[in-house]
Amino acid sequence: MTDETKTEKELILEVKDLRTYFYGEDDIVWKILEGINFKLYKGETLGILGPSGVGKSVLALSILKLIRYPGKIEGGEVYFKGTNLFKLDEESFDDLRGREIGLVMQNTRGGMDPLRDMTHTTGQPYKVHAEDEPEKDEIKALVVSQLGKVSLPEPYKTSDKFAHQMSGGENQRVKIAAALMNNPTLLIADEPVSNLDSTVARMIMNLLTEMKEKFNLTMILIAHNLGVIAELSDKVAIMYAGKIIEISDVETMYYNPRHPFTQGLFYASPSIAPRGKLKPIPGEEPDARKYPTGCHFHPRCEYAIEKCSIDQPKLEEIDNNHFVACWRTKDIPKYEGDF
Ligand code: SF4
Repeated sequence: MTDETKTEKELILEVKDLRTYFYGEDDIVWKILEGINFKLYKGETLGILGPSGVGKSVLALSILKLIRYPGKIEGGEVYFKGTNLFKLDEESFDDLRGREIGLVMQNTRGGMDPLRDMTHTTGQPYKVHAEDEPEKDEIKALVVSQLGKVSLPEPYKTSDKFAHQMSGGENQRVKIAAALMNNPTLLIADEPVSNLDSTVARMIMNLLTEMKEKFNLTMILIAHNLGVIAELSDKVAIMYAGKIIEISDVETMYYNPRHPFTQGLFYASPSIAPRGKLKPIPGEEPDARKYPTGCHFHPRCEYAIEKCSIDQPKLEEIDNNHFVACWRTKDIPKYEGDF
């Protein structure tokens, strides 16, 4: 997709220099997000990929301004359909969450009240955002219809069930149904298929694809599974040590990754590493309390030069909508994998 094409598309979300820190005792600061930037257009799905603890979920919560003590959004801006979300008062932001922006959280049963049935769980976003208090029958009918849309069997019976009476996959479907209850413009799905067996994960992935097409959803998909991201995303952002270090369309990312960390991630993945090339990335993830100077990846990077330990590279466009944060992009050998 070219920039010219993009300018014709509606810009839904723009994240600028987003920084979120967590504070501990003795002035310890975890810099979980250290300046995140990306744009997302109508109907696009952005897959966010990176190792555990890199800040993917914190990014989702920061966009929705759901960071709580001891975390704090330290800076940056998030524009949703042109509105700076961080300038909204709490009431206006509350009105937006669950109506214009849906969120599916990581833990399959997390966020579900064990004492409330699925009618409550699924219908709550509608009830909260309805202009007038809706009748119970109206909510029930909407919930049953919504549960049918996410292909839950016997939606009427399901609407009377509680979380513990359903499987992990069914609970996940209910959460997706609830997140889509108000037909949001943007859906943020944080690890929607982790902890599910492969058959159920496949069903949820098919469901997300179907929902995306049916509702023309714009989506942020957070995952650590390379296959899930490849299948569901239009473009992919790779996160490392609080930053996006590479972003491009999905084909470019998987066939021609240019950042040494992205290449290392693929070479370290048994599912996509080329035959005979499987190898771990040396070293460990850096501590968010004290990132290395310069490029945060330099202590683990086989291509590092002196400059890498001093100056931090910024995301630069190296090809059509392919951005990489690396001083030596031109010198990095081509990735040998064939996804
Ligand atoms: S900037 Fe230097 S250390 Fe960082 S990824 Fe590029 S070559 Fe490696």
